[in-house]
Amino acid sequence: MQIRTIHEPSRSIDVIHETDVIVVGSGPGGLAAALAAARTGVEVALVERFGCFGGNITTVGVEGFAWYRHEQTVEAGGIGWEFEERAKAMGAAVPESQSLSYELDSEGFKLVADRLVEEAGIRPMLHRQFVAPILDGDAIAGIITESKAGREAILGRRIIDATGDADVAHRAGALTIKTPVEEMQAASVMFHLAGVDKTAFMAAVRADPQTYSDWSTGEWSVETSGKEDAMFSPFLKKPFQKAIEAGVIPPHLNTISGTWGAMHDTGELTYMNLIHLAGCDGTDPDSLTRFEIEGRRQTMLAIEALRRFAPGCASARLRNFGMTIGIRDTRKIDAVYNMTEADVRHQGRFEDSIGIYPEFIDGYGVLILPTTGRYMHIPYRAMLPQGVRNLLVTGRAIGGDRIAHAATRNMACCAVAGQGAGVAAALSVKAGRDVDAVDVGAVQSTLRRQGVRIS
Ligand SMILES: Cc1cc2nc3c(=O)[nH]c(=O)nc-3n(C[C@H](O)[C@H](O)[C@H](O)COP(=O)(O)OP(=O)(O)OC[C@H]3O[C@@H](n4cnc5c(N)ncnc54)[C@H](O)[C@@H]3O)c2cc1C
Repeated sequence: MQIRTIHEPSRSIDVIHETDVIVVGSGPGGLAAALAAARTGVEVALVERFGCFGGNITTVGVEGFAWYRHEQTVEAGGIGWEFEERAKAMGAAVPESQSLSYELDSEGFKLVADRLVEEAGIRPMLHRQFVAPILDGDAIAGIITESKAGREAILGRRIIDATGDADVAHRAGALTIKTPVEEMQAASVMFHLAGVDKTAFMAAVRADPQTYSDWSTGEWSVETSGKEDAMFSPFLKKPFQKAIEAGVIPPHLNTISGTWGAMHDTGELTYMNLIHLAGCDGTDPDSLTRFEIEGRRQTMLAIEALRRFAPGCASARLRNFGMTIGIRDTRKIDAVYNMTEADVRHQGRFEDSIGIYPEFIDGYGVLILPTTGRYMHIPYRAMLPQGVRNLLVTGRAIGGDRIAHAATRNMACCAVAGQGAGVAAALSVKAGRDVDAVDVGAVQSTLRRQGVRIS
């Protein structure tokens, strides 16, 4: 069927701001990038389509920032570490149940991010959606946003795309690769509960502790290295099996299962990662619309199952949904270097490392936890798109294959990459050199001074 088109007339747009570095998107990647660039001494604007910073942490409710951490885990430190420390200091984190980490409070982290942005002197630009690049030949020179104020132009000497979906790179004409929709990791509508009896809930968890091997029962099959299998996981499946047997949940929804995050003293059970929506394309608003609604419908079935079959949950009620569906997998750039499965499984080492990340692989049916001291380098070139100058891409859209993405998509890794991108963009402005000609040694020295472990 031929799609009808209309002609949009060209028009003049006000330039509302000019700066050194524009960061588009404020998740763990973009927030870290903006902070790192500002702390390296350049002017930074942080542009975000929603009304808060934090990306998936605050808008989806993904609270498990470092649930992989165990005694032997070796990490980069840097701004990712700071996210946890500041959240703890501001009462926006609680101990995480399966690891030596803290679970970020998705609401409280909004305030943490506000504070960090303000302290770094970053110009906050919320409620603006990037819609088009401003191109000068093959170089990007700014962005056009859409908001309640209409279309506005913001000029920047370097742009960091931290949209998660590589929106800027894609629209600027850089090479991007979108995972075929049937292979995309499932999307999730996340939710938080109130009214849970903590004593009863935790007693049941202790009486029947679940493990990572339980992830492989029924619908899913998860490859581990073996050492993960007997370890405790805050996993919930049995209440939903019982609900199917009782006719509360239809049998085809045997995908309802997953992990809970934090059981608060106040009766809130948060970061309920139970709804898995295969076939959702996070770059297609019709698909997003359908799965937002379907995810909410399945959530209410899950809550009913918990009420009936999970100890301590009889009086549970929905506290809130994440303010948007959670998308794990869309576009990635075809970068100057695309990370590989071998890199993340076998401790990849790179001369242009901008930080390390522990051997934590979670996605596409693989779960490997960094219970040893093994770790990988994250190469700067994985953030360099092909075909557009002055642009870096960070966060979950950096270049890599599926299993590489199962490591690099994790929030703490996005923060490592973000900090590297921020420092590189700032030094490239200061030196007057393009991002692909930046002095990587100088980037590494600056990152070390900012507390990042590079090698
Ligand atoms: C349900 C779910 C559970 C997960 N669980 C975990 C977990 O337990 N631990 C873990 O480490 N990771 C987890 N992940 C993965 C992790 O949350 C993401 O991979 C990570 O947040 C990506 O970070 P990012 O900074 O690249 O992008 P995001 O966190 O997605 O942030 C992107 C930001 O850009 C903004 N944006 C997007 N497009 C535009 C635009 N056009 N204009 C302006 N702003 C824009 C968005 O609003 C958002 O704020 C989970 C993901 C999901 C969906």
